[in-house]
Amino acid sequence: MSILGRPIVALLPFVPRFIVRWISKRYVAGENIDQAMSVIKKLRSNNTCFTIDVLGEEIKNMSEASYFMNEYNALLDAIIDNDIDANISIKPTALGLLIDGAETSKNLTKILLKASKNNIFVRLDMEDNRVTQSTIDLVYEMHKKGLNNVGTVLQGRLFRTENDIEKICSMTLKNSDFRICKGIYLESNDIAYTNHKEIVDSVIKCIDLMLENGAYTAIASHDDDIIAYSLDSLKKHGMGPELIDPRKNAGIKLPGKGNGYEFQFLLGVRGDERRKLAKEGHLTRVYVPYGSRWYEYSMRRLRENPEIAMHVTKAFLLPWTNRR
Ligand code: FAD
Repeated sequence: MSILGRPIVALLPFVPRFIVRWISKRYVAGENIDQAMSVIKKLRSNNTCFTIDVLGEEIKNMSEASYFMNEYNALLDAIIDNDIDANISIKPTALGLLIDGAETSKNLTKILLKASKNNIFVRLDMEDNRVTQSTIDLVYEMHKKGLNNVGTVLQGRLFRTENDIEKICSMTLKNSDFRICKGIYLESNDIAYTNHKEIVDSVIKCIDLMLENGAYTAIASHDDDIIAYSLDSLKKHGMGPELIDPRKNAGIKLPGKGNGYEFQFLLGVRGDERRKLAKEGHLTRVYVPYGSRWYEYSMRRLRENPEIAMHVTKAFLLPWTNRR
């Protein structure tokens, strides 16, 4: 797939910005909070909730963090004022993780305090391997302070992830809460699986491990095999729509959360599958990115992972294969 994606990525710099905007409209909810809120209000329905992300990452100096701090502050206000069933997703490098760990921790603490007062959960998106450990360490640090409304993402493609699940569960106990995905960053073969089947097998193992360890498990994949496997595995654990989570090692159900698990989808991707799961009673969450930096962000993601370019092109040319 990436063989076909690469030539598309090479052509991107020559595509006029307004065309990129037009295509990306399906995946990015707009440039500001009002536009994001309006997309969310249109998508609101039974068993559908949201996680909202301010686009951008890896700031170059700490003064840039204030843009994200202000935006996340305003975003929390908007979630509360509009009574939206949503949590927020944050890229730790946007708060300064690669520059100043102590300042990043202060920034995150401020966001978590405000979110926690309003029963809003905060997800730390997982970025490339430079920050895997420091992102997990941030979660430990916040839980030690009693701020349990934060959890990380783990990437099935990394060899380390199974160990990370065991360790995080032993540290955060009944407050363990993960998003599990394949991982968008193409990591090298000394630290990660690079073959499609191996990545799928690893994600599946991680889902089982999370469920066995009592963790809240947010399955973030559009892959039919992963979704089908998860449904079987949930059944084996006695979990499902309208069933109280029976796992002895599970935490209590928190506001805005499902019965020990949920399914997550990116805005614009496989809406039909998401609606089918929601109709069956499973909690589904849509990841809604917005922000003024949509162009730089989209270009960077496409360059890093040309497979996405193929998915986007297919969805654009054959829209019936992938409804919003
Ligand atoms: P794929 O095999 O890539 O996709 C399965 C099918 O879904 C494709 O055949 C295609 O039909 C459709 N599809 C997938 N992507 C697209 C697209 N962009 N456009 C159109 N169709 C598409 N990765 C991280 O590294 N860190 C994170 O914090 C993170 N957070 C995520 C949050 C959510 C809610 C989701 C859903 C994904 C997240 N990811 C994150 C990305 C993830 O790691 C994968 O790169 C991405 O989801 C593609 O893998 P897949 O399992 O969906 O399977």
